[in-house]
Amino acid sequence: MHVAMSDRLGRRRFVRLSGGAAVAASLGSPGLVRAAAGEATGPAARHVNVIIIGAGLSGLMAGRELRRRGVDSFLVLEASDRVGGRTLNMPIGGGHIVEVGGEWIGPGQDSVAALIGELGIGSFDAYYEGDTTYDIEGAISRGFLPHVSLAEAADFAKVAWQLDRLCKKMPVGEPWRMDGAASLDRTTLGDWLREHAATSFTPSVFRLITRAVWAGYPERISLLWVLHYLRAAGGLLPVILNDGGAQDQRIVGGSQIISERMASQLGDRVLLRRPALRIEDHDPKRMRVMTPVETFTADRVIVAMAPADTLRIEFTPALPKPRQDLAAGWARLPRLPLVKAAVLYESPFWRADGLNGAMQSDRSPIQLVFDNSPEDGSMGVLSCFLSVVECPHLADRKAREEGLRDELARYFGSTALDATGYVEKDWAADPWSTGCISPLTPGVLTAAGEYLRKSTGRIFWAGTESAKRWCGYMDGAISAGARAASEVHASLKA
Ligand SMILES: Cc1cc2nc3c(=O)[nH]c(=O)nc-3n(C[C@H](O)[C@H](O)[C@H](O)COP(=O)(O)OP(=O)(O)OC[C@H]3O[C@@H](n4cnc5c(N)ncnc54)[C@H](O)[C@@H]3O)c2cc1C
Repeated sequence: MHVAMSDRLGRRRFVRLSGGAAVAASLGSPGLVRAAAGEATGPAARHVNVIIIGAGLSGLMAGRELRRRGVDSFLVLEASDRVGGRTLNMPIGGGHIVEVGGEWIGPGQDSVAALIGELGIGSFDAYYEGDTTYDIEGAISRGFLPHVSLAEAADFAKVAWQLDRLCKKMPVGEPWRMDGAASLDRTTLGDWLREHAATSFTPSVFRLITRAVWAGYPERISLLWVLHYLRAAGGLLPVILNDGGAQDQRIVGGSQIISERMASQLGDRVLLRRPALRIEDHDPKRMRVMTPVETFTADRVIVAMAPADTLRIEFTPALPKPRQDLAAGWARLPRLPLVKAAVLYESPFWRADGLNGAMQSDRSPIQLVFDNSPEDGSMGVLSCFLSVVECPHLADRKAREEGLRDELARYFGSTALDATGYVEKDWAADPWSTGCISPLTPGVLTAAGEYLRKSTGRIFWAGTESAKRWCGYMDGAISAGARAASEVHASLKA
């Protein structure tokens, strides 16, 4: 692949240019790399019109869009040794892979659908035939819906409808402009549920939903942010439905293939192991972007990553205060650090029992499980989401592997103990990606939300968190990358 070639060349040059920094970068520690920043002051290596920082879906899409608009002079700098960011395929044998990051797509996600169409990548239906398993308030039940009383079902339906109605009052992508935004942003979803729910079941189901979708708890997440997220996705139902919702389809070859194909088409414009350490916007003629390997100059910069991850970059002059507050707000971690693990089996044995392999719970340790078997069903894969903060006894990887099998046996029977393999990605340990879809605590959106996608000087902002539609999703990452590129194009023309 083109990227691999440029990476090989880059790596040789990398080692030659800056031994100490290279060691730091190859260790993958932002802290160490930052320490090496002082070495990053050699002569300007190369000038391009645009530097894009981050080769996740958003940064790569920005590059693709620049090219489509006739801007050919750009580079994509990626800190890690691979493209894809929060999407990652892991091999599981037999020529199959499993995704340990972003994975599913669904109806209404037009940006990702169009992109995979252009790239010649297919999708297929995720497996949802049979009963879902629910573990709510300590009771395990199976069916299309959890077992509940009529009163509980009616209460949940009423509260869900009220939330949906509220979110439809929000201008899409601009939560700070909603009537009463400040007061909605002072409140948490938990506070709001306490006022509106008449049963304990409804908050429990919302806890299940917030753990599943945002790896967080209702009592820590801003109500305004929840409304913003739901509005961007078209309401509560598209977010929580598996079949027919955001978890409807899977990507043939795994979602990381989208980034790999884009990178391959961008060729040697994509440079791996190039963490941006500092962006300088002093000189009216050109900006400077420093990496431990070399320094680049550019007319414009696109930063394409989660706001919290931008805290590792030094901006001079300092960014406007609200933009800093936004990044700091996201770094305050109202979400749980996440592990996505796949337990492998000889076959998807649960299907014969009429189960679809999906499990959702409002309690620890496992937040949710999906049947992630290859499309041909030639082996069985149960993908589990968990946070070790909720189950410290599973903090150690070996304990986690065994503990997850035990947990799965509670839901799918003792055959779940006979696993043939295990792979996982602990996103908390990733040096460059702060993690999954990340909610905001109260107060940040109204104080700083406008800076989600507002350019600051000659710096433009991409990344899924800046998207108007499907923010937090792969779809949002793609549309945000295209939007940032169109802004840069307009600004270069001006
Ligand atoms: C476990 C998990 C499950 C998910 N499930 C789904 C799902 O099913 N469906 C869905 O649509 N979405 C899902 N998502 C979310 C989806 O993966 C993200 O929305 C999307 O991939 C974000 O893309 P991005 O380009 O905006 O950011 P990222 O993918 O985070 O890309 C940012 C890139 O910038 C790089 N970088 C960081 N700092 C620097 C620096 N200083 N210099 C240079 N490069 C840097 C990073 O290494 C990274 O490659 C999931 C995410 C996770 C983690």
